[in-house]
Amino acid sequence: AKKEGKNNFQFYDESLNSRIYDRLQIENELRKAIDSEQFSLRYQPIVDLVSGQLVGAEALTRWDHPELGSIPPDQFIPIAEETGLILPLGERILRMACKELKKWQFADTERFTLAVNLSIRQFYQPNLLKIIQGILRETETDPTRLTIEITESMTMNVKKASSILYQLKSMGINISMDDFGTGYSSLNCLKEFPIDHLKIDQTFIREISGTNGNKNIAATIISMAHTLGMKVIAEGVETEEQLHFLKQHNSDEAQGYLFSKPLAAGEFHLLIDKGFVY
Ligand code: C2E
Ligand code: CA
Ligand code: CA
Ligand code: CA
Repeated sequence: AKKEGKNNFQFYDESLNSRIYDRLQIENELRKAIDSEQFSLRYQPIVDLVSGQLVGAEALTRWDHPELGSIPPDQFIPIAEETGLILPLGERILRMACKELKKWQFADTERFTLAVNLSIRQFYQPNLLKIIQGILRETETDPTRLTIEITESMTMNVKKASSILYQLKSMGINISMDDFGTGYSSLNCLKEFPIDHLKIDQTFIREISGTNGNKNIAATIISMAHTLGMKVIAEGVETEEQLHFLKQHNSDEAQGYLFSKPLAAGEFHLLIDKGFVY
């Protein structure tokens, strides 16, 4: 028993060590990679549920490290936030997204916006608006084609958040509230913010088709958003059953593997040229 205990301890110790090592290694590699060509974006279509037409995309960051392979954003974004590396990285991501958006041609009347995720640290950096303005000018991007995705945790400081959001809105930029339902924003505050779209988190979309799933949550979020004058995007839609339910309950838009996985720039460009309709 004693021997077993020792082995268990060693096992635990090793895995703890390796986790710390992984984290440090990612942090070190991230520092080195910031100015490299290792980051790229994928674009996931967002579809209008009445017309089936493409009305937007979300830019999602990929990191392909020459030795470590592809490292998922869920692993490096939190480390980038903790270390502050998200500031230079986030700026690059926004610049890459705007450059790509500029290549896609849309008629003036055609609806289309590209959504970029913002982290909390970026959101509260003192020169956020200057940085965004600089990138829009430099890439000659129409601000009304850009959407910024924020999360509920960013709106805890109601006064400050609302001031930033109103300034972004006055520049013509669209605002989406991401992962809605997983955080703690008060409904009372929600109506104070100039939010265009509420994105229902995938966990509630999964409930629609689960055996003991609570479909009511998704339906409630949709009607609440509409009451507050916001449009709804359902995230993580994978099945026709989910789509059917969402249409029935008047969700405006949707995004998920059912329509398309996130695509490389070239693939996404082809999709636009073909005039994608689901
Ligand atoms: P998110 O913003 O909620 O992005 C949606 C995630 O769901 C993406 O994962 C997307 O690939 C995935 N997804 C889309 N459709 C489906 C579906 O039908 N089923 C399932 N199971 N998943 C689906 P991804 O690309 O791995 O990104 C994970 C998270 O990393 C994002 O969650 C976001 O929080 C963060 N992230 C990604 N790119 C960026 C970025 O450029 N900046 C910041 N700050 N965060 C980012
Ligand atoms: Ca997002
Ligand atoms: Ca989300
Ligand atoms: Ca998420």
